[in-house]
Amino acid sequence: MEPVIVQRSDHTLSRQNISPEALKVLYGLKEADYVAYIAGGGVRDLLLGRTPKDFDVVTDATPNELRRIFRNCRLIGRRFRLAHVFFGRDKIIEVATFRANMPPEPSDPSDFPESSDTSDSSDEPAQPGQFESHHHVRRDDGMIVRDNLFGTPEEDALRRDFTINALFYNIRDYSVIDYVGGLEDLQKRVIRFIGDPGVRCVEDPVRMIRAVRFAAMLDFDFEPATSAAIREHHANLALANRSRLYEEVQKLFFCKAAQQAYELLREFGLFGMLFPELGSWLGPSTGTPECLRISQALKQVDEWRQAGREVSPALLFALMFGGMHEARAGELTEQGQHKGLALHSVTMEHFGGLTERVQVPKTVRYRTAEILASQPRLTADGGRRARPLATRDFFPEAVAYLEFMVRLTGDHRAALEQAQAIEWDPRQSRYGDDGDQRRRPRRRRRGPPASGQS
Ligand code: ATP
Ligand code: MG
Repeated sequence: MEPVIVQRSDHTLSRQNISPEALKVLYGLKEADYVAYIAGGGVRDLLLGRTPKDFDVVTDATPNELRRIFRNCRLIGRRFRLAHVFFGRDKIIEVATFRANMPPEPSDPSDFPESSDTSDSSDEPAQPGQFESHHHVRRDDGMIVRDNLFGTPEEDALRRDFTINALFYNIRDYSVIDYVGGLEDLQKRVIRFIGDPGVRCVEDPVRMIRAVRFAAMLDFDFEPATSAAIREHHANLALANRSRLYEEVQKLFFCKAAQQAYELLREFGLFGMLFPELGSWLGPSTGTPECLRISQALKQVDEWRQAGREVSPALLFALMFGGMHEARAGELTEQGQHKGLALHSVTMEHFGGLTERVQVPKTVRYRTAEILASQPRLTADGGRRARPLATRDFFPEAVAYLEFMVRLTGDHRAALEQAQAIEWDPRQSRYGDDGDQRRRPRRRRRGPPASGQS
C-alpha cells in the first residue's frame, strides 16, 4: 500500500519542538544510512499543537545494529528487544525496530513500548546473533520460535492501535508518512481502530482503556465502529493482564481529563470491569449522589494535575473509593468498631478482591487505607488532634483528601485549616513508608523498582 506523504511545506510539525536527544538519535541513524522515524504520540501531539510526553523512534536497524551505532545504548525486553539510548542519567530515547503485528504476550512489557519501563525483569543481555534476522528468531538449539517479528514500516503502522497513533515523521526529508488515514482522523478529531475493531479489542483488551484515554485527553469522538466494538467487547477486559491494567489505569486517571474518562468508562461498561465492586455498588444509574461524588473527585484530580500538583496513586484511589468505603465502614462503626480501624479494614478488603482485575501494588493499597483511616483523627476536635499525624509519610495526601471533602461537603473547614498549618515532618521512624514492610528487612533489588510510582 502506498502511504500518503505530506511534505515539510504542507504540515506544521517543526523540528524545533522535538527534543535535542530524539534529534540526535534520528540523525545518528540517518548518518548510518538507516530509516529513522518518530512514531506514535510524539507525532500525534506535535501535529495537534500539544507538548508530547516523549518521542519514540522507529527504524529498520536491528537491535544489535543499534548497539553498534549508539555507545550509550542498552537493549531491553525479552521477546521484542528495544534499545534505550541514554543521555545523562535519566533521559532515555526508546528506539524500536519496525515490527509486524503479533498478538501481544501479556507477560512481556516490551510488547508495549509505552510500558517498557516496567521491564527490568527481562533486562538481560541479548544472545549473540539472536536478533539479527528480520524474519525470525532462533533459539540456541536452532529452532525457529517466531516468524516475522520484525516488519516493514507499513506493517509497523498497521500493528498500532489507533489511526492517529500510527503516523511517522521522517527525519530524512521532514515529511509525515500516513499509511492508515491518521491525518484525516486528526482533522476530524476521531479515535478509530486500525483494522477490524472487534479483532483489535479481543486481541488486546487494554486497547479499550487506551481508546477512552485518548478520547478524553484529546477531546475526540469515537468513530462509530470503534465505539460499537468497545461496547460489544467490554467484558473482555477481565482477560487483560493485571499489571498492564494498573499501568493504564494510572495513565488514564492522571491524563488531566479523568472526569471525562470516568463518564466514558461508565458509558461503555468498562468502569465495572476495572472496579467490579465499586461498579455494582454504584449500580447502573448515573446521576446518583454516589456517582456524582466520584465525578467530583476526579474533577479535583484533574484540577490538581492541571495546576502541576502531584497526585499519588494512593490519593487517587482514596478519592475514588472513599464514598463506598465510608458507607461500608459506617455499618461497622454502628456495631461498635473504631472508625479509623473500620476504614482501614474495609479498604484492605476491597483491594483484596480488586487486585484480581487491577494489580495495585501492596504499598499503594496500604497507603490508600492509611489516607482514609486517618480522616477521623484529622477532623476530631476541630483538627486539634491532628499533629501526631504530621510525622507520617502519607500526611500530605491525607490533608489533600480532607481538602476535597471540605469542598464536597462544606464540613470540617476548621480542621482543614489546622491541618494545613501543621508542618509536615516525616520521621518515618518505626512506621516506615508502608505497613506491610515494617517488620521485614528490605531485600535488595537489582535495578530500579518495577514501577516508578509505587
Ligand atoms: P502518550 O502521549 O500518553 O505517551 P502514546 O500514543 O505515545 O501516548 P504510548 O502508550 O506511549 O502512547 O504508546 C506509544 C505508541 O505505541 C502508541 O502511539 C501506539 O502507536 C503504540 N501502542 C501502544 N500500546 C499499544 C497497544 N496496546 N496496541 C497497539 N499499539 C500500541
Ligand atoms: Mg508515549
